[in-house]
Amino acid sequence: MGILETTPASVYLEPGELFVGTRPTEVCTVLGSCVSLVLYHPQTKLSAMGHGKLPSRSCSHGSANGVKVCRMMGDFVSCSTHFMLSWFHQMGIPSKELEAKLFGGAMMFNLPGKEEASTVAIGKRNVETAMDMIRKERLHLVASDVGGPWGRKIFFHTGSGEVKLQRLRKTELDLVNPLEIKES
Ligand SMILES: [Zn+2]
Repeated sequence: MGILETTPASVYLEPGELFVGTRPTEVCTVLGSCVSLVLYHPQTKLSAMGHGKLPSRSCSHGSANGVKVCRMMGDFVSCSTHFMLSWFHQMGIPSKELEAKLFGGAMMFNLPGKEEASTVAIGKRNVETAMDMIRKERLHLVASDVGGPWGRKIFFHTGSGEVKLQRLRKTELDLVNPLEIKES
């Protein structure tokens, strides 16, 4: 639409952060064993994206009356997903109308001071938790790139719902995001 068009804003998501938005934005993040669930409503272009470090904990979120925000919400795949879905519900959008994309959950090897098995398990459990919620909420999963030994850099264009993905070698990931794999 010519003259009214403006350059989209861009946002970088740190581990444990969350994005929800109503305007065209480029949301970028870098993932190792963390996962990003990208949610997009094609009709309204409302968008959300998480960057969860750990799978889940028992917590209650969302009701007809509002959205409950818990402490460290963005750190957990379960909490951040509940929050994003509640936000869409508050905007009048049911889960089944959303397009979901899932990225990350790498099985990262050779981390100093870490048991190999446990770091592999975090990525896998993050993906399993996200997939469970996708099934339970009957989200329409339209794309995913999960697991494997590599990190990922993703760019989510909320105006179109498009996600561009780069796979990263372990060394590149350490440079960009050295704190990501820490388990609290
Ligand atoms: Zn929570």
